[in-house]
Amino acid sequence: MEAIYIGYLICGVVILFAIILAVYAQIKVSSTYNKYMETQAKSGITGRQLAQNILNSTGNQATLRTIRGHLNDHYNPVNHTVNISVDNADSSSISGLGVVAHEMGHYLQQVKNYKPFYIRQTIVKLCNFTSGLLVPMLLIGILLNVFLYAFAGNVVIWIAVGIYGVSALANLATLPVEIDASKRALKMLSGMGIMDKEELGKTKKVLSAAALTYVAALLVSLAYFLRLLFYALMITGDR
Ligand SMILES: [Zn+2]
Repeated sequence: MEAIYIGYLICGVVILFAIILAVYAQIKVSSTYNKYMETQAKSGITGRQLAQNILNSTGNQATLRTIRGHLNDHYNPVNHTVNISVDNADSSSISGLGVVAHEMGHYLQQVKNYKPFYIRQTIVKLCNFTSGLLVPMLLIGILLNVFLYAFAGNVVIWIAVGIYGVSALANLATLPVEIDASKRALKMLSGMGIMDKEELGKTKKVLSAAALTYVAALLVSLAYFLRLLFYALMITGDR
């Protein structure tokens, strides 16, 4: 019992560390993005042109859309749309091209049937379905455990732990897919002759800062999951 409690406390410390890392990553990504938004790439190509060129060379298997908002660029694999924010679509900056190339990396993952991309998509779908159930399940489980049937309560609590596990798993499956999309982005920018070595180095800084936010998110969710696991062991263990 004591070891479980110590594990529970350690998770609390890890969560604190992970949250600090997440805040740092967020600051780092916006400062790096803003910095290289000011640096224009010598090729002069815009984000929109870059995206369109890649679509054209792969048989236009998705539609390009310009969306409002800040850094909300994303590839939607369900309706096959590349959604690029206006800032990045009109920009010829290192940051703008880096972000667009990254989203095109996700597009290429689907075009090339990259397995981890589909695995992630499946887990995220499952997670969207189950995540709303976590808090109610946990509450019902604890109430049942304390006031009525300990066994039924325990079962519900363990289901809640499983649900949280799915969301941690979604974060785990996201990280390699994000890193791969950034690798594809750099390869694309270099292969198409859009950026020279120095520009690629700067783009890598922008994309690495973005990757750190996914590392932090994974660490936060794993630590929360482990803490919930220890918590469940504590409350179900003595009943
Ligand atoms: Zn991405």
